[in-house]
Amino acid sequence: MFLDDEFDGVPLVRIMGLKRLRRMTRRQRRASNAASAGGVVSKELRSSASASSESENTTKCSSDDETLKIIIAGAPASGKGTQCEAIRSKYGVVHLSTGDMLRAAVSEGTDVGRAAKDYMDAGKLVPDEVIIGVVKDRLSQPDCVSSGWLLDGFPRTPAQATALKSAGVSADCFLFLNVPDSLLIDRVVGRRTDPITGKIYHMTFSPPDDDEILGRLEHRSDDTEEKVVVRLEQFHSNVDAVRGSYEDIGAEIDGSLSPGEVGDLIDSVIEEKVAAKTAA
Ligand code: ADP
Repeated sequence: MFLDDEFDGVPLVRIMGLKRLRRMTRRQRRASNAASAGGVVSKELRSSASASSESENTTKCSSDDETLKIIIAGAPASGKGTQCEAIRSKYGVVHLSTGDMLRAAVSEGTDVGRAAKDYMDAGKLVPDEVIIGVVKDRLSQPDCVSSGWLLDGFPRTPAQATALKSAGVSADCFLFLNVPDSLLIDRVVGRRTDPITGKIYHMTFSPPDDDEILGRLEHRSDDTEEKVVVRLEQFHSNVDAVRGSYEDIGAEIDGSLSPGEVGDLIDSVIEEKVAAKTAA
């Protein structure tokens, strides 16, 4: 009904948000059902509505099935950070990066940070039992439940994928950014972050124009050639099993293209999912 509608060339779903669009679609469908059935809601319709709300209630970490839930995966420096920022601002989901959450825990000196620090410094994955609880807690927070989420960097091991499933957490799509290792090493070593805006730059491919920004850029301590080799090994030893857990909702994206082209591919996958949810 509204699925293909655009306003000034922009898909309506981007302007209005998935929840509002779904609400309007339902309202319109209800109005036309009422008109054709003389205003009487059928028994079958009522019982299927209560069955679906019961099944929604069994989801422990995200009970609002109208929201978008996305998992994004890819090797270190495959472009997840750049794409996540674009997805967050277009679709209004909460971006949860386990790398950022762990770095914040390390700098705040929390128990989780203390448990994670040595692994992170060595470029290794932190133990599953350290990260799983953190993610499950975060996904059950009201902002994630009401706005949907974009999970970046999790699950990264089969045990993490199993833990999400056992907690009743499911996603609408699993985006996998595929980039050859040869490109990744150059991307990692030249990568810098602006601590004020969080924007990611690359000293060769996309340096900032502004000297002030250039002067404050930070180089992540694990973005060295030596550590990226360890991080890539960890990534390759887990990625097939993790992807295997999401075969039914998986979409492989060529992450070697330009950020804009990758973003367009991601948008088309997400918009297909949004349309399917809106129509459901
Ligand atoms: P990248 O994907 O570029 O390696 P991240 O910022 O996502 O970088 O992660 C940085 C580090 O945080 C990882 O090398 C690892 O030590 C830790 N980490 C992040 N997510 C996870 C996770 N799901 N499981 C275990 N360790 C993680």
